[in-house]
Amino acid sequence: MKIASIEAIPFNIPLERPTAFAHASISSAEHVLIRVTTDDGVVGHAEAPARPFTYGESQESIVKAIDSWFSPAMVGTDPFDREVARNDLSWLRHNHTARGGVDMAVWDVIGKSLGRSCHKLLGGYTDSMEVVHILFAATPEGMVEEARDMRERFGFNTFKIKTGKNVKEDARAMRMLRAELGEGPEMYVDANKGWTADETIRLLPVMEEVGITMLEEPTPAFRPLARRRVAKKSSIPIMGDESVTRLGEVGREILDNHSQIISIKVARTGFTESDRIVGLCEGLGIGLALGSQMDGTVGTLSSLAFAAAYKSTSDRAGELDYFMQLTDDIVAETPVIENGRMHVSGKPGIGIEIDEDKLNHYRIDKD
Ligand SMILES: [Mg+2]
Repeated sequence: MKIASIEAIPFNIPLERPTAFAHASISSAEHVLIRVTTDDGVVGHAEAPARPFTYGESQESIVKAIDSWFSPAMVGTDPFDREVARNDLSWLRHNHTARGGVDMAVWDVIGKSLGRSCHKLLGGYTDSMEVVHILFAATPEGMVEEARDMRERFGFNTFKIKTGKNVKEDARAMRMLRAELGEGPEMYVDANKGWTADETIRLLPVMEEVGITMLEEPTPAFRPLARRRVAKKSSIPIMGDESVTRLGEVGREILDNHSQIISIKVARTGFTESDRIVGLCEGLGIGLALGSQMDGTVGTLSSLAFAAAYKSTSDRAGELDYFMQLTDDIVAETPVIENGRMHVSGKPGIGIEIDEDKLNHYRIDKD
């Protein structure tokens, strides 16, 4: 079996409402569907989300990278030889989501060709994951309303609070949410690098008081002394996200003791490199949490297949609900969240079935 083609299909799906966080805002899922087809007709899919504010990639650059570099290097090769592909493209810097997407689409091919789910092939630890609801609302009052509504409708028991825009409002949101939710539900925060070290340190007592369990990317990792000050003072573990976009960065952040938990996102490290990150973190005694790259449904199914395969990535709740922000979808069947959990389908490969009519409607490379 050889790879016959790798296609990169850009598509846009409007969001229910714009998603705003500390340093950017998006109003539409501008993603690229990656389709790998083999010479004997097996078709694998994955999704690369354009996140210029994190990786410097655009839809155009993802398509260009796949057409110019990934496709020429990999067409004609055996999809099982993932280590050969990884090595052949090791010279290429950045292009995180293009690289991650191609890797996962190849894994989808591998699973389908074997008639086994990627979840099983990777480890098959559990068939369901607890899901985090990420609170993006603009005001503390909006967050409280959103948390109440999502808890009632879907049974969420873990919430991530998007902070980093206004310290006073962030403190108010944390206190109001704890008052609304009671002692039970887990809450953690993601400042998306939006706080200074001083601001973060001033907020630590509030975060301790309301029982925040993880402090995600409080300050920019490229200001290492600021990060070090926060890490020294904080009793709450710091989770690296934007600072750990590849294996080497994970190693650096851990050795510098700037992060004690690593956000693993298959959108940027695929399955192959994510597996190495899991091993590195387990070996060093560092925690893992499944993060969302504001994944669409294809990306969500990929994240679920990976995270549910390992104990260390499924012990904590995973960020798997962003697809609900989309106004429509390119998959035939959207996943369901019940009692705060999402179940692995067990279908061969990642379990993605593309609705070709919907894809034709939302793709932007054809009239
Ligand atoms: Mg984050």
